[in-house]
Amino acid sequence: RVINFSAGPAKLPIEVLQRAQKEMLNYNGLGISVMELSHRSADFTKIITTAENDLRQLLNIPDNYKVIFKQGGGTGQFSAIPLNLMNFKPGGTADYIVTGTWSAKAALEAEKYGKINKVVPKVSKYTSIPDPSTWNLNPEASYVYYCSNETIHGIEYQYIPETNGVPLVCDMSSNMLSRPFDVSKFGVIFAGAQKNVGCAGVTLVIIREDLIGHAMQTTPVIFDYKIQVGNNSVYNTAPTYNIYILGLVLQWLKDNGGAEKMEELSAIKSKAVYDIIDNSNGFYYSPLDKSCRSRMNVTFRIGCQEGDEALEKLFLAEAEKRGLTSLKGHRAIGGIRASLYNALSVEECMVLVTFMQDFLEKHQ
Ligand code: PLP
Repeated sequence: RVINFSAGPAKLPIEVLQRAQKEMLNYNGLGISVMELSHRSADFTKIITTAENDLRQLLNIPDNYKVIFKQGGGTGQFSAIPLNLMNFKPGGTADYIVTGTWSAKAALEAEKYGKINKVVPKVSKYTSIPDPSTWNLNPEASYVYYCSNETIHGIEYQYIPETNGVPLVCDMSSNMLSRPFDVSKFGVIFAGAQKNVGCAGVTLVIIREDLIGHAMQTTPVIFDYKIQVGNNSVYNTAPTYNIYILGLVLQWLKDNGGAEKMEELSAIKSKAVYDIIDNSNGFYYSPLDKSCRSRMNVTFRIGCQEGDEALEKLFLAEAEKRGLTSLKGHRAIGGIRASLYNALSVEECMVLVTFMQDFLEKHQ
């Protein structure tokens, strides 16, 4: 197998893939695959309950938070959040901290359902997170929304925003379980599984109890947190196989030191790549403010600030030859993006670092 740096769907731990392969045709001696198992069967109930319990343990989730596993991706939650929370307070307004493409898309979607206040000035390029002291937060807002890791630009918050009691909603799709954090600081947390916690097709949502039951009347049943929580995520057919894979990833995380260990390893991996960038005399170039560089998605240009496209093409081609795949930056910003999610080992990351050093020496 090659080393996969894709931003998502992303690399899974090999142990998870091997276990899924082993159980593919005959799960738990049942003689059928998990894919063929009823979402209401006792065996599937055990899979989903174990996944929830493992998640609760890994993140130390307080009892007054509910967990659901839903289809619709992160984008589905861009709609579900305003549908469920916009009317939490009279006035129906929400604050959005837009620091990249994903929070911008979430804000655009929310505008359909209420009044949106963008708390930081609009920028032409996302390269930093404006200082929280400059945020124009509205104390009457129903919620404050942000994205803790902007996957496209590689911008990550290294802190949890303070909102003075207004429920905080976070899109953690691309840094979920990459470090421990205090769940009680949040109103709602969601994450598409396909980066750090599983494969595409299921989205994790963690919701504080008092925020459930405020959905707009027109909320589609599939997005109504009260209905989904009340039916333990199986109001309708759940994405059963994806939940099973997610469960295997959570088990793998428990076996490998949990979020604490992932934080330690993420720091080592990302530092190694950023060190090469910083010590390359501008050959590798990152426009980002160092205080918000992502540990998950390292983005950079090669050759000059705007990127020498021929050199970047060569970098990608030579990387492929060395068994390093999916390093191309997002089409919106170009350049290179190395995603260093939990399933990527330090050793695998060092193969990239060595390649970057060699490429630098050859082409500088
Ligand atoms: N939020 C973030 C941070 C993402 O990186 C993505 C996708 O890459 C999304 C949301 C959208 O997720 P989906 O494609 O599952 O709708």
